[in-house]
Amino acid sequence: MAKSKLNELYDPENFRKTGLEIVNFLADYLHKSYLNELPTNSYKEPEEMLQSWRQFLNESHSSSNYYKKVVNESIHLHNPNYIGHQVGVTAPISALGGLISDLLSNGMAIYEMGSVSNALEHLAIEILNKSVGFENGGGFMTSGGTLANLTALLTARAAKVGDNIWENGYESKKYGIMVSSQAHYCIDRAARIMGLGSDGIIKLPVDQSFKVDNQRIEEEYFRAKEKGIQIFAIVASSCSTSTGSYDDITFFAEFAKKHEIWFHVDGAHGAAVTFSEKYKYLVEGINLADSAIIDCHKMFMTPTITTAVLYKNKLDSNKTFRQKAEYLFDESENFDWYNSGKRTFECTKLMMSIKFMSIVQQYGVQVFEENIDTLYDNTRVFAAIIRSNPNFELALKPQANIVCFRYQPDNISIEDLNDFNSAIRQRILEDGQHYIVQTLLDRQVYLRATIMNPKTAVEHFQSLLDKIVQIAQTLKLPLK
Ligand SMILES: *Cc1c(COP(=O)(O)O)cnc(C)c1O
Repeated sequence: MAKSKLNELYDPENFRKTGLEIVNFLADYLHKSYLNELPTNSYKEPEEMLQSWRQFLNESHSSSNYYKKVVNESIHLHNPNYIGHQVGVTAPISALGGLISDLLSNGMAIYEMGSVSNALEHLAIEILNKSVGFENGGGFMTSGGTLANLTALLTARAAKVGDNIWENGYESKKYGIMVSSQAHYCIDRAARIMGLGSDGIIKLPVDQSFKVDNQRIEEEYFRAKEKGIQIFAIVASSCSTSTGSYDDITFFAEFAKKHEIWFHVDGAHGAAVTFSEKYKYLVEGINLADSAIIDCHKMFMTPTITTAVLYKNKLDSNKTFRQKAEYLFDESENFDWYNSGKRTFECTKLMMSIKFMSIVQQYGVQVFEENIDTLYDNTRVFAAIIRSNPNFELALKPQANIVCFRYQPDNISIEDLNDFNSAIRQRILEDGQHYIVQTLLDRQVYLRATIMNPKTAVEHFQSLLDKIVQIAQTLKLPLK
């Protein structure tokens, strides 16, 4: 008797029936999202959300109703009014690849537990290396930009400091890395995880366009050196998170070469431009880096989470994790590309390459170029609209697809201006038709939009600005 539930659980016909219902529902959902017939977001306070789910799960519902509630109450990236965080808008074909990955669950820890995904991953890395210009490159996919940066920095440490730290821990010497003060916080976190401490993260000052000020790099390097810190890596942001500013890669590469340190490019968001004839100038010189990362779940439209770590010299990637798991890998020091688990944090890993390759196999890499050009072009259109509107101030000319701006009423103090723009962003969140975020630049609050959806067009930008003006008119100073 007890077994009947298990039989039902694995029944292929139940899968077919519910699966077809779900795919039908999701296709309708896509239509509605594109047409903005659903709000971008149905914001609920955390306790209210929790309560609603507690109640739902206590009642009896079909699985399709359960899935519908999940979808309806989530934030909708396919709606063109979603211009918030820099998460890619999933290509439906890629989500189907994800479904197959989930059902097969080939964990990839060793070759035969993921022979297809290892081969596909190798080919995906070849495509990305070619685009970046790593001619004899290597690499793998891993679970997100955060883990990818940590992995690359561990490789950097192994390559430039030697493996004594892996064996003995830090003895008395201090080590450090250099990175933009505008870098994604995960670099800081990676450095701390590696035991470098606050002193080991040299945060480089930026110029007015929020990219690292090249003229200040060397002085920061020598200041650290005087404190007894051995710098082993410099990290370029391509691009930075808040403003989408690209560091000067060629300059960083020359600096790294001169001081014999590792050069890593955090290209989680913006290194995708290597696929665009029009915008690849933004990462000129990236082929000179020792390593780079790219999040496919940002500009390449795969679902979260699919990140590539790329190495200029594929043998470097063998240095990251020195301990041998003899029961998993044979002893050979050969570069057995098909045992990617040797080089990744993960033991069991998702079949990420399938999500990337589902797009490439059907549409070719040209679709990446089309996506990047559309998003970057549209961002420039949005910036021009903001600039031409006297109610708004553009923080800086966008380099990527990220726009920072604020509403600027007349005669207002800086403190009130900050509160005013925070209040606007909160009202937009609660209203649910649009989705944007906010950021702090030099301690001032700016509204921040990342144009991730190729269907976001002038009419959506205009309706957002109209909404902001409308909200602003209902706000009274001083704000509580
Ligand atoms: C998004 C991003 C990250 C973090 O990547 P996750 O995939 O969210 O872990 C790191 N660096 C930069 C520059 C990013 O844009």
